[in-house]
Amino acid sequence: MGGTFDPIHYGHLVTAEAVRHEFAIDQVLFIPTGQPPHKALGAVSDAESRYLMTLLATESNEHFYASRMEIDRGGFTYTIDTIRALQKIYSPGTEIFFITGADAFYQMFGWHNAEELLGACTFVAATRPGYQKEELIRRIGVTNQDHPRRRFHFLEVPALAISSSDIRERVRNGRPIKYLVPEAVENFIKKHRLYREEEKG
Ligand code: ATP
Ligand code: MG
Repeated sequence: MGGTFDPIHYGHLVTAEAVRHEFAIDQVLFIPTGQPPHKALGAVSDAESRYLMTLLATESNEHFYASRMEIDRGGFTYTIDTIRALQKIYSPGTEIFFITGADAFYQMFGWHNAEELLGACTFVAATRPGYQKEELIRRIGVTNQDHPRRRFHFLEVPALAISSSDIRERVRNGRPIKYLVPEAVENFIKKHRLYREEEKG
């Protein structure tokens, strides 16, 4: 699961755990992006803070790991480079799942090398209960029939209303974020005074 993770929250964690269980996945890597090409420079917290919050949030799950690979690679982050790197690290028979929210899944089809991505991993997109996934499939214009190995799946998760942008705004406005993020992440945000200024970019 890749993301800006600015900050990581229970929406990410609940989704990853549900997908892990559903597809019997051995390890979930949470991979904070370096500089995302579609987000303005300076609009995103420094990579080290985002990585540390991801590490804190994933510690209590034995299947969850925080990965520095995109941050350490430097430059703009393209997901396809990450998938290629993972293919080299893991043994050839390893199935790679790409976990996203439905929003990111939809946007992905405008990404650099979307076709290669589709060929390289199985996608699981988290949808809201009742969300029209047929509508989503129609909008992306591909079906599992086009991809014989059923390369994408949708899974309903209950925590989709949580977002990092809402959490940042809550911090700016002095509203609580307790129970939206793990306590260690809440403490980190407080201690390092993240998200106190007006959003830049
Ligand atoms: P922002 O509000 O800044 O866009 P975000 O909450 O969407 O942040 P990201 O780091 O951008 O968090 O998202 C990383 C991945 O997690 C994306 O695939 C996104 O679709 C997914 N995601 C985000 N929020 C949720 C949620 N509440 N439930 C499930 N998946 C989510
Ligand atoms: Mg988002």
